[in-house]
Amino acid sequence: MQKSMTDEIKIEGLVIFAHHGVYPEETKLGQTFIVNATLFTDTKAAGYSDDLTQSVNYGTACSEIYTFLTEHTYKLLEAAVEHLAAHLLHRFPLIGGVTLELKKPGAPIRYPFDCVSVKIHREWKAAAISYGSNMGDKRRYIEEALRAIEADENIRNVRCSELIETEPYGGVEQDVFLNGAAVLETLYDPEELLHFLQSLEQRAGRERLVHWGPRTLDLDIVFYEEEVIRSDDLIVPHIDMHNRAFVLEPLSQVAPGWIHPIYGKSVTALLDRLNEQ
Ligand code: ATP
Ligand code: CA
Ligand code: CA
Repeated sequence: MQKSMTDEIKIEGLVIFAHHGVYPEETKLGQTFIVNATLFTDTKAAGYSDDLTQSVNYGTACSEIYTFLTEHTYKLLEAAVEHLAAHLLHRFPLIGGVTLELKKPGAPIRYPFDCVSVKIHREWKAAAISYGSNMGDKRRYIEEALRAIEADENIRNVRCSELIETEPYGGVEQDVFLNGAAVLETLYDPEELLHFLQSLEQRAGRERLVHWGPRTLDLDIVFYEEEVIRSDDLIVPHIDMHNRAFVLEPLSQVAPGWIHPIYGKSVTALLDRLNEQ
């Protein structure tokens, strides 16, 4: 989430009669649900201007929550709250994250109790990606992928660098590359983002023949927030990004100040260091 999105607009104790539940009586008769919502945003502009259009209208947010929960039916509180979070994150561009609690005071339980509830936090995550092509119509492969990235509903605020021509890397004899980088916000977790990018490589007809060999399209995750990930199929930050001018140069156009969480240096500083070598 953007660092400035730490102000909170809170909706507490919103009462809604709806039809979520595992049992047929629950979906037929309905019952009372209570929603607590915290919308994370940056209220500074609205604070200075006193202008509602620069903030999130909590009346509209209540209507959206009410309409969503009455027009859908889920068996689980988990599902209702997950889909509601996604709905709010899509509906309000000024929201960076949301904490949602869905309470069910009349849940069918045989013992005395006050309430059951599910509470989740979801937010738009910042990621940086790099891309390259050195086969066929390189520019078209990259531009088509960027269009699909921008059109994906789980991605927003994509900012792309210019494309640069670079010499091949890794010692395999091949055509020059076209490379670029972009920053974006996403609701995908890192693994989901990797799979999404791989589906775009597939769509571009990418075949993995030789490592570092010619490819129609290569899409790598460079950064995901400040996370350090080392799983079998994903290493973030990208393990070799600090040694690659074809990653750092375009990345310095769109994320010059992003700090590498392991080396503690900005993209600009990593690029300067590489150029000095
Ligand atoms: P390099 O990773 O050195 O840039 P490459 O991009 O040519 O080489 P690929 O054949 O595209 O390598 O990818 C090999 C595997 O790398 C993928 O199947 C993927 O699981 C894994 N991988 C690990 N970390 C990342 C990352 N940050 N972004 C994309 N793929 C990654
Ligand atoms: Ca790569
Ligand atoms: Ca790759």
